[in-house]
Amino acid sequence: MFTDTHCHLFKEYYDDINMIVNNAVNNNVNRLIVSGCSHSENIEVLELKYPNVYKVIGLHPDQASVYEDSQIDFIKENIDKIIGIGEIGLDYYYGKEDIDKQKELFRKQLKLAQDLGLPVVIHSREATLDTINILKEYNVNGVIHSFSGSKETALEYIKMGFILGINGVVTFKNCNLIEVLKEIGVDKIVLETDSPYLTPVPYRGEVNEPKHIIDIANFICENVNISLNDLAEITNKNIKSLFDI
Ligand SMILES: [Zn+2]
Repeated sequence: MFTDTHCHLFKEYYDDINMIVNNAVNNNVNRLIVSGCSHSENIEVLELKYPNVYKVIGLHPDQASVYEDSQIDFIKENIDKIIGIGEIGLDYYYGKEDIDKQKELFRKQLKLAQDLGLPVVIHSREATLDTINILKEYNVNGVIHSFSGSKETALEYIKMGFILGINGVVTFKNCNLIEVLKEIGVDKIVLETDSPYLTPVPYRGEVNEPKHIIDIANFICENVNISLNDLAEITNKNIKSLFDI
């Protein structure tokens, strides 16, 4: 049994979310963690009603110039319905002009996670150093979503108690990530699809779905010396320790 620890199951991307959930279960991906990035998405996350769909809500760095504090209060008001706060973080690839606002929004949500005792799901793009330094200001743990950094960065996050979220990027030919996993092992990873984005090889060009967790798992097992069963066991153990599901 596998879990997709990070996907975006919204009407904007899928006509039939029921079918997407069924496709996942039929491919041995029994649990899904859906993540919101904006206030409107967070509302949509909370409306999903499936016993095997778990919920994470938060404000993505692309909201840094438009969010309102009431939208952070909304996260707190729904603590009983969520298992974590995300995706939150820093994005200097798209958002170089509002770095200070991104940091402010990131810190507010890290403080909230720390106060509520919830894990965080981190988005960090071209912002590794600032992400690490800001995370160190808080007593939080969580997942580094869509990790694709160096061995040194991986080891630093792991030392800080974080788990690496590995998705279809690991199958991309121009990506060094599988070499990093061969060196550091898979003890501190979880699997995610980031659906509808980042479709793994050989399905590039199609809309991604949680069912493709199995393709990501197969690719890792073919390259790192581990069985599918062991990879499922390791990743589920990490999910249990972080999210308590
Ligand atoms: Zn995402």
